[in-house]
Amino acid sequence: MSTRRVDVLVVGAGPAGTATAIHLARSGASVLLADRAHFPRDKACGGGVTGRALRQVPCDITPVVERVVDTFELRLHHRCSFRRTSAEPLIMMTQRRRLDAYLAEQAVAVGARFRDGTRVEHITIDENGISATVGGENVTADILVGADGANGIVAKAAGLDVGIERGIALEGNVPWALLDEQRFASTAVVEIGAPAGGYGWLFPKGDHANLGVGGWASEGPHLRDHLARLACAYSVDPNAITGVRGHRLPMRRIGASTPASSRVVLVGDAAGLVDPLSGDGMYEAFVSARLAAETIVAGRPESYPAALARALDHHAGASWTAKRALDRHPAVCFWAARSPGVFGVVAGLLKGDVGHPDEARGLARPPLRLIARVARSRVDREAAVPDQMPG
Ligand SMILES: Cc1cc2nc3c(=O)[nH]c(=O)nc-3n(C[C@H](O)[C@H](O)[C@H](O)COP(=O)(O)OP(=O)(O)OC[C@H]3O[C@@H](n4cnc5c(N)ncnc54)[C@H](O)[C@@H]3O)c2cc1C
Repeated sequence: MSTRRVDVLVVGAGPAGTATAIHLARSGASVLLADRAHFPRDKACGGGVTGRALRQVPCDITPVVERVVDTFELRLHHRCSFRRTSAEPLIMMTQRRRLDAYLAEQAVAVGARFRDGTRVEHITIDENGISATVGGENVTADILVGADGANGIVAKAAGLDVGIERGIALEGNVPWALLDEQRFASTAVVEIGAPAGGYGWLFPKGDHANLGVGGWASEGPHLRDHLARLACAYSVDPNAITGVRGHRLPMRRIGASTPASSRVVLVGDAAGLVDPLSGDGMYEAFVSARLAAETIVAGRPESYPAALARALDHHAGASWTAKRALDRHPAVCFWAARSPGVFGVVAGLLKGDVGHPDEARGLARPPLRLIARVARSRVDREAAVPDQMPG
């Protein structure tokens, strides 16, 4: 068997792996990016790239954006709802089969080698470096980047798969012929109240809408029912939903997980970086990719965990807080979100102009404080929700 040597082996070509490969290749490192799937491939995902995430993408993704969302509709228990529109775009809607293939192309364009349909196996990690089998070829590398997602092998091989809570989500597509396209063309709908530990959504895409539901792992057996109920709320026959697929949502407990060892760096879902409140992970995938590449290029991958914590922990703490409140009292959260000034903060968080709800001023402060109080109150589902609320 032949042996190939590279500076960095990146396992997985989702947003985290492709972005890491782009940053590293631009810095002159020799990079092998490998994915077991044949591209283009789909990945269970709503495909919403928030404005906050867009700022972190290492290239222009305009060619694969299908809709631009500027309106947010929040619904409670399929009954009450309100809409708010922002003067600026909030979320770029894409499809993962298109986004990930496009990002892999960009990685190749800046010098990374990409092998799809190629599983990485038999990983050995020691003080001399990394070795692995990559589609039947022996590969040795100085650094291994685990970008292999929620069910990856790298974290396990490196003994880093600890401190991660797992949610679950299910999504599928409905053609516009069955929905009011004009009403939803630039609107992201979020339906709270069920499933526990999450929400349902409707996201607009080019020729269809994406409907999905996600929540605690314990909701797994009920997700199909939740998705059917969501479809019925739009008068869509649940059997008309196509391409239904589910996936885990790995959410790290702050301070309990370690995303790196001396030769292994975990990025994106492999590091458990999904936002506990929104279930989004692309922002975190792009941020971790950038920080991983910077610390690898500087020859200091051991500084990656601290850099990642500085970048993400504050925001993740607020998300755990809001998740606790949402799980306990969705109605209180709904009415708080409806209060004057709050949409400005939500829009700021989505766009990346606001880093943390604490930055809210004026009328938005009391309802946001109420959410934090609800999160701290001692009620029913307390045992199910990890306490990540700082202070
Ligand atoms: C239903 C659902 C909806 C979501 N909606 C959104 C959303 O709207 N917006 C958002 O920001 N986030 C969303 N997320 C989260 C988002 O999908 C993830 O956070 C994101 O995909 C993480 O990217 P990643 O690159 O870390 O991992 P992934 O995208 O999972 O990529 C991992 C890759 O590794 C490959 N791989 C695994 N093992 C191996 C191996 N041994 N060898 C080679 N390759 C391997 C896989 O084939 C895969 O391509 C959603 C998640 C779910 C489940």
